[in-house]
Amino acid sequence: MIRSTPIISIIILLNTSIMAQSTDSIKKDEYWKSKLSDIEYAVAREKGTERPFTGKYWDFFERGIYSCVCCGANLFESDSKFASSCGWPSFFDSKYKDNIEFHNDTSHGMIRTEVLCKKCGAHLGHIFDDGPKPTGKRFCINSVSIKFTPIK
Ligand code: FE
Repeated sequence: MIRSTPIISIIILLNTSIMAQSTDSIKKDEYWKSKLSDIEYAVAREKGTERPFTGKYWDFFERGIYSCVCCGANLFESDSKFASSCGWPSFFDSKYKDNIEFHNDTSHGMIRTEVLCKKCGAHLGHIFDDGPKPTGKRFCINSVSIKFTPIK
């Protein structure tokens, strides 16, 4: 009889947890693929970027709330949207900071700060320090990652 040593037990435990994780992420991927359009999935779940001046909201200034295209969490209000001429919807602030998180992003040879939905991990865009007053910030957000609801 082979007695399993603590090291073998640890390896088995680690392996099982890695397998469980990958099954979970495959399930999640399938869920998001069925819920989102191809471009929404590519941007929000795979950290893609829509081409500038092509999205629904870069030149759109109706009064309302922008929520996460994946989970519906409120993210931005039209009060803090501004015309940045960068080709993506831009906000200088968010009233819903509890629903937003930031990650360091060193992809594509750049050092940037990624903006994500805190509730579901959707990639929203990046934040830069060249925004207008009062914050000086520019949340540069993909139109396909957000969904607009007018305020009546
Ligand atoms: Fe979300």
